[in-house]
Amino acid sequence: MSSFEKKVAARSIFTEIIDRNLPAQILYEDDLCIVIKDAHPQAPVHFLVIPKKPLVSLLEIKAEDVPLLGHLNYIAAKVAKQEGCNNGFRLIANNGKQAGQTVFHLHYHVLGRKSLLEQGL
Ligand code: 5GP
Repeated sequence: MSSFEKKVAARSIFTEIIDRNLPAQILYEDDLCIVIKDAHPQAPVHFLVIPKKPLVSLLEIKAEDVPLLGHLNYIAAKVAKQEGCNNGFRLIANNGKQAGQTVFHLHYHVLGRKSLLEQGL
């Protein structure tokens, strides 16, 4: 990651939430990540799993980040089950502007509860 990209991620809205400068509905937090409800939910359950490390997207991931990604996946499933998604959930990461990423701090969307097919998602 270039120093410019690091600065963009370091100043992201998610970093402000992690630092408690902005409010959010926090579902889970540990040393490596924070999980918050999405401000504009696209499904009955829609939360974001965000690493505290200010990575921009999966495009910038290095080998040293692989254990962190495993942790994010583990926490995504753990919180999904806590939120009632025992029968399934969808995990999405938009990586880069062309893929629809709007907040340039890596995050996984977790969506679930109602049939995702029913909603045409
Ligand atoms: P992206 O488009 O980058 O994949 O997803 C960004 C997500 O962050 C969107 O689903 C958007 O609703 C959510 N979001 C943007 N700003 C905030 C905020 O201030 N608080 C919360 N909780 N979610 C936000």
